[in-house]
Amino acid sequence: MSEIRFDGRVAIVTGAGAGLGRSHALALARCGAKVVVNDLGGSVSGEGGSISAAEAVVREITGAGGEAMAHGANVTRPGEVQDMVEGALKRWGKVDILVNNAGILRDKSFAKMELEDFRAVVDVHLMGSVNCTKAVWEPMREAGYGRVVMTSSSSGIYGNFGQSNYGAAKMGLVGLMNVLHLEGQKYGIKVNTLSPTALTRMTEGLIPEEAARLMTVEAVTAGLLYLVSEDGPARTILCAGAGGYAATKIYETPGIYLPPEDQTPENVAKNFARIVSAEGQQEFEQGGQQTFKFVEYAARHFGVK
Ligand code: NAD
Repeated sequence: MSEIRFDGRVAIVTGAGAGLGRSHALALARCGAKVVVNDLGGSVSGEGGSISAAEAVVREITGAGGEAMAHGANVTRPGEVQDMVEGALKRWGKVDILVNNAGILRDKSFAKMELEDFRAVVDVHLMGSVNCTKAVWEPMREAGYGRVVMTSSSSGIYGNFGQSNYGAAKMGLVGLMNVLHLEGQKYGIKVNTLSPTALTRMTEGLIPEEAARLMTVEAVTAGLLYLVSEDGPARTILCAGAGGYAATKIYETPGIYLPPEDQTPENVAKNFARIVSAEGQQEFEQGGQQTFKFVEYAARHFGVK
């Protein structure tokens, strides 16, 4: 297996002033990429801001002989994001890699959550990733090359008490990846999702001390680097933490078919165990496959070829 390198590649990493983003940016630069280190420099809940966090990471990169520039764009503001992408295009002529990593938390049970806190979290994670991806999409399509990663979360994918805003945004990113995969593949753009777990200021105090020592950001970054590499996968949800690497998959059960005369809620209830049975489940690549499956069931019943 040849070494994974990024020489000549240009990468943007959002939220790279701290935590996972910083680790991704440092590793990409160490492997030869020119990196835009983006960070607003705010608190975990998204308040305040300063370019100094991003600048410190740039100093680390350039001090080690790499190339990087800092940008303090707030990913929720399309104009600032556009300015960041234009800055990269002007200096380095292209953007090959986008790592959507910036994030905030505003946890509260749904009953107690203000809509403003719901919106703020969806805005940073989901719309922030939309804004950044939209700004690099055309340059990547024109270049016929692109690697985009969304950062999701197990608490988003499976649910976590007090994180309805975060969960909605993080699962929304999976939907975004699925569609962008279909639209980007003929232009050489591969879109993936990372579901990390690591000790950062975001998870400080939530992870027992012994486990925390194993949960390094570097362990996650190894997975991220593979996702954005030339021969990396597409449409994959890679989960990474404490040296464990796995994939989250979405499957559909074969289900059942009910002819028109039997399409009643009582028959759905009666057959529910078979409807949800995982036996023979399948992975689909687009929504139409489900429609075809159902139409095929019906066609078989009515003897249509
Ligand atoms: P972190 O707080 O250390 O880093 C997030 C960075 O994003 C911060 O430096 C912050 O300033 C920046 N940021 C926030 N809002 C921004 C905005 N609007 N524009 C630009 N930058 C902004 O947290 P982290 O743990 O490194 O998290 C990184 C990503 O990984 C997040 O998307 C997070 O949801 C996700 N994640 C982390 C974990 C974990 O275990 N740490 C688990 C699941 C998912």
